[in-house]
Amino acid sequence: MFGLARIRITITARNVNADTRGSVHSDTSTCAIMTQSRLRYTGMTQKLYPDSGVAPLTRSDAQWREALSPEAFAVTRLKHTERPFTGRYWDTTEAGTYYCVCCGTPLFASDTKFDAGCGWPSYFEPIDPEHVREVRDTSHGMVRTEVLCNVCDAHLGHVFPDGPPPTGLRYCMNSLSMRFEPAK
Ligand SMILES: [Zn+2]
Repeated sequence: MFGLARIRITITARNVNADTRGSVHSDTSTCAIMTQSRLRYTGMTQKLYPDSGVAPLTRSDAQWREALSPEAFAVTRLKHTERPFTGRYWDTTEAGTYYCVCCGTPLFASDTKFDAGCGWPSYFEPIDPEHVREVRDTSHGMVRTEVLCNVCDAHLGHVFPDGPPPTGLRYCMNSLSMRFEPAK
């Protein structure tokens, strides 16, 4: 069904500087940055899938590689983290919806986005708790809670208990894991 309805769209990112290997989301206001290797690209073409609800969507690594930019593949499928203050959406304030870049599931609404000062787009709650999944992550010598797309298992970022009301949570996401659509 997803195959039949598959669409192709092109997103033009303007001079996005992305490093998907050097950074980790941190639970402190100073975001840890480790080794750096800058990648520059000025555009990417992605095949996106329409809103697929919460039915699991499975693709092979080869299919994801074909569908995603190399940077988005590294973040969503290999759990890399983009460098802070470099993503497309860390300072976006426009009204709209953020969708999973892999499967098109709506993840976050702009009215839950706040400036956490860490250089990654941050939200105090997802659009629907069933659209994300949280798992314990002990990588990089830290105990964190990883946030995944509940439909396609894309790595999105981490959630920390230092957010604003009403939830007190900070969903610290990678811009590369999401696609923003402005409100009509
Ligand atoms: Zn997804």
